Amino acid sequence: MSSINSVLGTIENPGKTLIHEHILVGFPGWFLDTRQPGFKRDEALIRVCAAFEELKEHGVETVVDPCPNDLGRDVEFIAEVSSRTGINLICATGFYYEKAGIPYTLRYKEVDEIADIFINEIENGVGSTGIKPGLLKIATGEGVVSEYERKILTAAAKAAAATEIPVLSHTEKCSCGHDQIDIVTGEGVAPGHLLVGHSDGTDDLDYQRSLAERGVYVGFDRFGLEGQVTDEIRIQNLKQLVDLGYRQQIMMSHDYVNCWLGTVPGMSAGMSLSDVLPNWNMTHIFERIIPALKLEGMTDDDFDVILKDNPARFFSS
Ligand SMILES: [Zn+2]
Repeated sequence: MSSINSVLGTIENPGKTLIHEHILVGFPGWFLDTRQPGFKRDEALIRVCAAFEELKEHGVETVVDPCPNDLGRDVEFIAEVSSRTGINLICATGFYYEKAGIPYTLRYKEVDEIADIFINEIENGVGSTGIKPGLLKIATGEGVVSEYERKILTAAAKAAAATEIPVLSHTEKCSCGHDQIDIVTGEGVAPGHLLVGHSDGTDDLDYQRSLAERGVYVGFDRFGLEGQVTDEIRIQNLKQLVDLGYRQQIMMSHDYVNCWLGTVPGMSAGMSLSDVLPNWNMTHIFERIIPALKLEGMTDDDFDVILKDNPARFFSS
């Protein structure tokens, strides 16, 4: 197996992995609302590390934080969490979808220059930190891939092909997964180096199966986030994909956000996320989902494949 870039240096084998969780997220311009108290870094660090300590009780060795560069990414904060807790953390390079705004800096850059930004981070580190991303993050909006998104995805795919690191995606409402596959593999990236993220936000098994048939990984990576779809549906569809022979192409996670910079989109004052989404946290899979899937007939061996073997294969070049 080839080496994987973690935020503290290279690792050989990720072991039991959560493939999509966030330490910090701040939507573009989060700091413009100056009524907010601001980010209390030391307090946040203590709180986040406590949450990561809980993961150790479930044997988690590695967590992937696929925060794109324009969504509050803070690789030094991520590295601090890793060094304090001993959990491997893998960060990403990439840019978010158009709905969150096109940064003026990127509007007129061409594909090759944007690819060079990604390649430089992967090979030399983010800025002067020396911290190297271990994967590319891509994102598309709902229904159609915009011209801007196509440019960013093409640049990310070129960087992935040049550096042999994998690509992990954000999709909106389970759309554009096939466009993502077309664009990424079109630049020479193997389908086994692409995870089509948030593919669990639907009851449409045919869509999920059609992705798997093309050789990519299918992300069941929003357990506990029960708005678009319930965990019950996620459990049924995941089990059916396993029964259809695709357990080697499934990865599980929560897309949990440990710390929000600024306000949470869609949340009004006085609302608490834990009231609205009581099961959305990084241990939910281990405490509720895996036991439920075992009642459906899944085995420890299935979860070793999904949580250990699949991430290891995804990262190996
Ligand atoms: Zn995410």
